[in-house]
Amino acid sequence: MRVYADNASTTIVDKIVIESMITHMESIYGNPSSRHLEGMRAKDSICEARKVIANCIGAEDCSEIVFTSGGTESNNQAILSAAMIGVAHGKKHIITSTFEHPSVMNTLLKLKKMDFDISYIGVGSNGIVDLSKLETSIRPDTCLVSIMTINNEIGTIQPIETIGKLCREKSILFHTDAVQAIGHIELDVQTLNVDLLTASAHKFHGPKGIGFLYVRTGYELTRCFEGGHQERQMRPGTENVPGIVGMAVALKKSINHMEANTNTISLVSSYLVENLKSIPYSRLNGDIHNKFPGIMNYTFEGIEGERLVLELDKEGIAVSTGSSCMSGEISPSHVLLSLGMSEKLALCSIRISISENNTIDEMQYLAEKIKGIVIRVRESSIKWKYGKIHEI
Ligand SMILES: *Cc1c(COP(=O)(O)O)cnc(C)c1O
Repeated sequence: MRVYADNASTTIVDKIVIESMITHMESIYGNPSSRHLEGMRAKDSICEARKVIANCIGAEDCSEIVFTSGGTESNNQAILSAAMIGVAHGKKHIITSTFEHPSVMNTLLKLKKMDFDISYIGVGSNGIVDLSKLETSIRPDTCLVSIMTINNEIGTIQPIETIGKLCREKSILFHTDAVQAIGHIELDVQTLNVDLLTASAHKFHGPKGIGFLYVRTGYELTRCFEGGHQERQMRPGTENVPGIVGMAVALKKSINHMEANTNTISLVSSYLVENLKSIPYSRLNGDIHNKFPGIMNYTFEGIEGERLVLELDKEGIAVSTGSSCMSGEISPSHVLLSLGMSEKLALCSIRISISENNTIDEMQYLAEKIKGIVIRVRESSIKWKYGKIHEI
């Protein structure tokens, strides 16, 4: 048996998505920029997908949806564009959080080298952005606030609506990396007052290598590459037509089934949480109320996350440590460190991320295996047994 519980890394592509893509590749193979029938048909498919997606997030017009290669590219382009708009108005201050995805963090580091001033707002031990600090960090030269909607390692939901309102009042551009949120929780760009929103298809049962950026009417994106006229000259290159079609099918399905999916995910995850409670010296990280239940981050003192991931893999279970290995070295997650955790405890953590496809039976198996491994590893550690040192 294989239990896939690493849905925050990527999700399984839905069968109807695969079917829509195959049908498309077989019959609609033209280049959308071509003027003949084959090209027009491909162009129509993109247009239809754009409408579906715009509708899913409450966009005013489908021209506000720009297709990209995924979350990483959307985050890069959103932030660089907002920075260039800032420069045009003599503003070079950006506000973000301490626990953004690397595609946001590293883009901001690049801007820092270009003389931008970046304020990092802490998230406290509950993993929620400190709103009062955010508010007091706003300056006359602030050009952008970028805060993710759901954290990809601990699942906490950020107060996006409040931040959006604040930014709107102060006429500051607001970007949110909604990759873990879109298709999983309700999102409406009007209610949230979001100007730029990042999405990636493979996090909601769509294909990899395709995503989009929502850009509110009135804002121009800076091109990251030079080329043709595609995507209103903002993102050149022949469109990934089957990817775009598949993404629209996946998003529509996720949104149509959101209520049922949320119920399943809540039920299945609370079963796991209840079962893991019996493990001493363990904890579920981050706020338990303002949280997407599908992402759970656990610390099991005395056992390294990397080791637990590998041992669970041998038992047929796929989970992750949440943080990616940087240059081959195992480093503690910047997300967990930003919650105030020690490096040692951060290294003793794993992320279990489920989807509506997971079952109670799978969670029973998962909980049993985690308990077994944690007890075995602790028993075999002299330090743990005799030293009463409940850390590695
Ligand atoms: C996965 C992820 C990304 C990157 O998306 P890709 O399409 O894989 O490039 C960005 N932000 C968050 C929060 C993510 O979880």
